Amino acid sequence: MLTPTQQRVWDDLLDPGGNRPTVDPGLARRLRQALETEASDSLERVGAPGSAGGPSWIPGRDPAVIVVSKHLLGQVHQCERQLLASERVGFEWNATIVQGMLAHKAIELKCGFIAGAGGPVPPAALVQLAGQRLIDDEHGPAAWLRSAPPGELAEAYAAATDGVTKFEDTFPPIDARWRPRVESRLKVQLAGGRVELSGKVDLVLGQASGHEARTLIIDLKTGRPALGHPADLRWYALLETLRVGVSPYRLASFYLDSGDWRHEDVDEDLLWSTVRRVTDGIARLLELRVAHRTPTESPGPACRWCIDRAHCPSASTDLPGFSPSDD
Ligand code: SF4
Repeated sequence: MLTPTQQRVWDDLLDPGGNRPTVDPGLARRLRQALETEASDSLERVGAPGSAGGPSWIPGRDPAVIVVSKHLLGQVHQCERQLLASERVGFEWNATIVQGMLAHKAIELKCGFIAGAGGPVPPAALVQLAGQRLIDDEHGPAAWLRSAPPGELAEAYAAATDGVTKFEDTFPPIDARWRPRVESRLKVQLAGGRVELSGKVDLVLGQASGHEARTLIIDLKTGRPALGHPADLRWYALLETLRVGVSPYRLASFYLDSGDWRHEDVDEDLLWSTVRRVTDGIARLLELRVAHRTPTESPGPACRWCIDRAHCPSASTDLPGFSPSDD
């Protein structure tokens, strides 16, 4: 028997009896062609990375390839100066990021068990297993998990268990017949592989049938709704459309703390506006990193947590709870 919230998700979000649109079979080809043309033009304008005597790139990355992720695209559209400042500092694992990874990994394992690897497993055990899997993977937060203070580690595991439990009692039990995909990687290569669009979707349900859109993409969120969440989902919708040739029919951000969600249905306008956002982002990234253009400053809510705000002349102080003397 479903909880009332699970029933609401079933009826209003999953909507199993609802109409599913048919997608123009030439749409994906036209979207890809637009991306190809714009990406190649942008590379041409700044000089192709990786060429002899060519531009430098982010240390540790293949100099011939620019990898565009949801996060990078969001950053370059939010504030270019902040993006460059955060890249100078580099990335560090912390308890908040790791707890999110633990919860996502645990939900991935949960779907693996549903798919036939075993019976139901309680959330805390799933999170323990997720932690072990992450420790075994040297590309992730293994070092942080091995060396974090016991208190921080316990908080991360407890928060992840909380997230998995909330997912279980608000989202209908996932059925293997829904073709669930968790932490599903999507990649699109453009301009002969010099530009790579990369994403990892939290949860995908359903599968296209011929030209009929039957896929629902879901982003699981632990915080509150934010302005950037719909754009993140549209990014996944574009990558999935290019991969399959058929778009998803619906996108949703699902908020674990409230058991609520925001969704929008996918149409051609949404995909074309996403292409424009992506090509504009690629052009900006190339101008900043290759042509070393001076970054623009875009004051706004992001100034609150910006690592460069002490030095930035445009830093917004007109924010609730913000003091110019804040460190
Ligand atoms: S303080 Fe605000 S405007 Fe300045 S770099 Fe940071 S986010 Fe951008």
